Amino acid sequence: MRRFIGVALAYALALTSAPSAQPPDAVKAAGDALGVAKIKTLQFTGSGANFSIGQNFTPKDPWPRVTVKSYIGSINYDTASMRQELLREMGTVMPRGGGAPFTGDQRVIQVVSGNYAWNINATAPGAAPPAPAPAPGNAVERMLALWATPQGFVKAAMANNATTKKVKGGTEVSFTVGGKYKMTGVINAQNQVERVQTWIDQPIVGDMLVETVYSGYQDFGGVMFPSRIVQSQDGYPTLDLTIAAVTVNPAVDITVPDTVRTAQPAPVRVESAKLADGVFYLTGGSHHSLAIEMKDHIVLVDVPQTEERALAVIAKAKEVIPGKPIRYVVTSHHHWDHLGGIRTAIDEGATIVTHVSNREFLQRVAKTPHTINPDRLAASKKPLKIQTVGAKGVLTDGTRTVELHLLTNYEHTGDMLVVYLPKEKILAEPDAYSPPATPTTPLVITAIPYAVALYDNIQRLKLDVQTIAPFHGAKTTTVAELARSAGKGSTAN
Ligand SMILES: [Zn+2]
Repeated sequence: MRRFIGVALAYALALTSAPSAQPPDAVKAAGDALGVAKIKTLQFTGSGANFSIGQNFTPKDPWPRVTVKSYIGSINYDTASMRQELLREMGTVMPRGGGAPFTGDQRVIQVVSGNYAWNINATAPGAAPPAPAPAPGNAVERMLALWATPQGFVKAAMANNATTKKVKGGTEVSFTVGGKYKMTGVINAQNQVERVQTWIDQPIVGDMLVETVYSGYQDFGGVMFPSRIVQSQDGYPTLDLTIAAVTVNPAVDITVPDTVRTAQPAPVRVESAKLADGVFYLTGGSHHSLAIEMKDHIVLVDVPQTEERALAVIAKAKEVIPGKPIRYVVTSHHHWDHLGGIRTAIDEGATIVTHVSNREFLQRVAKTPHTINPDRLAASKKPLKIQTVGAKGVLTDGTRTVELHLLTNYEHTGDMLVVYLPKEKILAEPDAYSPPATPTTPLVITAIPYAVALYDNIQRLKLDVQTIAPFHGAKTTTVAELARSAGKGSTAN
């Protein structure tokens, strides 16, 4: 689906090189003011911050901030290509909220060209650069970001028969990219692109607003460009840059690597391992789930990532526990990577069990418009059934008991419910402790406080845990190993 969209997008944008109908006056004036006709490529550099979308401490908090020491954006408008290189920096403590723990410098390179997107992931200093990692799910977002840059917006408006209307402070310019993606921007009285809005598909919040605000336009060596760029997604900033320099028409040659062009999406795979009678650990990808058999139904913990994964997890749960409906889906916490299949769970008819702080957010999620990439719930429109938990929740059928405990003093998220099966002495938890590949490998320093919090909560709640089933990583683990990673070795039980 996304590949097809990409093709449509690139095709429509190829029109930029052909003369089209006379553009509206405001677009033409902005084109003159921003030097659009002479700009084929553009590079802008700066610094600021990027933010971990979907990883806020509670659904009402902004996305956690990470310092960007340097940012280099390189665009080739003629080939519809963009490369962004960010040098991120972290001290010894992660910001409040989620995001993959790291420390020191982290170089992140994100590229889009036509239908293809890929990343060049961080490496240790001095190591050989890793192979490009295909990122097909990011192609649309990055392509729209390219056409949302001030000069890109004017080019796209000229190529896509933009319509205009007068608004306070300027002219609103609207058009559709690739026949599918709406873009709306405001050109101010100085003929500068001040704000661009577009919408992309997101599995949880649906048609998600991406808004970019440009301010402090300056003459950067002959080209007018904003000195500040603030991009927000779903209402909170995701990128905040102060621009230091802009270069017009540098060489920007971005070619799609063969390995990216020919990459096939990895099939969604769900594997199951029986942890105890009727308790199944569902793995096979980067985010795991737990299926628990009750007398006449199934309790499922976490439907992560996407509708596709959620459907596969649901199918596997029904395969290993045949003949029973999924009556409850527990969501461990509201972070988007673990919540991606929540709408699928609502469509399945399950009652969503979650911390009380997520009620309003999930009410919104259940009803949010999903027109760009309609999912099952968009068609069924089933209402949200929700059961909220405070410090502790219990699900029981009279025989088996499933306890849900809110972690305290846990900076990763304010709503983390870990799942404890007292009879089986099993604890399932995402994110607090993802055991290293070998027990002697230390955790990255910024991950240690989360392991400490989990260990301290197990002690505080006096949970008798034999097996920890983490939702990241390759295997189950023990409190002794958790204690070692948390630096609490000698007191481990
Ligand atoms: Zn998380």
